[in-house]
Amino acid sequence: LNGYVGFDTITTQIEKKLLKRGFQFNVIVVGQTGLGKSTLINTIFAAHLIDSKGRQSVEEPFRQTTEIQTVSHLIEENGIRLRLNIVDTPGYGDQVNNENCWEPIIKYIKDQHSAYLRKELTAMRERYIQDTRIHCCLFFIAPTGHALKPLDILVLKKLSEVVNVVPVIAKSDSLTIEERLAFKQRIKAELAHNNIKLYPYDSDELDQGELDLNQSMKELIPFAIVGSEKNVVIDGKAVRGRRNKWGVIVVENENHCEFVHLRNFLTRTHLQDLIETTAQIHYEAFRSKQLLALKE
Ligand code: GDP
Ligand code: MG
Repeated sequence: LNGYVGFDTITTQIEKKLLKRGFQFNVIVVGQTGLGKSTLINTIFAAHLIDSKGRQSVEEPFRQTTEIQTVSHLIEENGIRLRLNIVDTPGYGDQVNNENCWEPIIKYIKDQHSAYLRKELTAMRERYIQDTRIHCCLFFIAPTGHALKPLDILVLKKLSEVVNVVPVIAKSDSLTIEERLAFKQRIKAELAHNNIKLYPYDSDELDQGELDLNQSMKELIPFAIVGSEKNVVIDGKAVRGRRNKWGVIVVENENHCEFVHLRNFLTRTHLQDLIETTAQIHYEAFRSKQLLALKE
């Protein structure tokens, strides 16, 4: 112990501080009405809300416009608090004329960056800036089994320039496993063809383990998901699921759909990285652009 200063405990100190403060995780869901956005969010997080033994609360939207609504949930697991803000974008792509329908969404994302920058720049910096920046955009693709719509491609392109985008094949129980695979390959080819760069991004800072993890995620994306707010009984046990013409789809069964992969990705393997990437890549790009404009 000779010469031991103890600064290595800084990681635990930082951790403690962060844990006390809690995390904030902001997700925006984008896609046509009826694709199961609300259902998916409830399927991912509802169990945690119940598990958190009355400490959970569903609060009023902390920021609301006529078009875009935010619902805030406080989740607690083993003493760790996560404030989850879900930004819903009803009506996107539902109109006959969808020209510029993505603009309110892009504007919303940029507005959060702008609000953060303003707070950062004020002389009396708040010690802790409330973070409303969007860390992840779940983009819902209709399970047509054919191809992406031209509108999807356009919007994916716009979104991926400002936010971490994670596309999902919505309601994938309406496709057979073979159809899903083919659709997924088709979507990947279209994304590549259109030069759309999606999260996760590779960087020199990642170690081999992280690169491998990202590679396996890139193979899975877009996750073919199924959501359900109802239970079905399997072998006497109630589980989240849906009945369809082929039988019962169990949401959490990895042989039935990729819901579990998406949930692990969002809440376990990439939560912190989604938050960091937002700050270091998307927010930083916004910030340097704004500061350059100020100088001119
Ligand atoms: P939103 O408008 O995108 O928020 O869609 P909702 O979550 O309100 O879901 C619309 C309808 O689709 C509801 O009747 C849901 O029960 C149903 N639904 C949601 N997810 C799925 C799914 O994965 N598969 C199927 N077959 N139906 C779903
Ligand atoms: Mg909804």
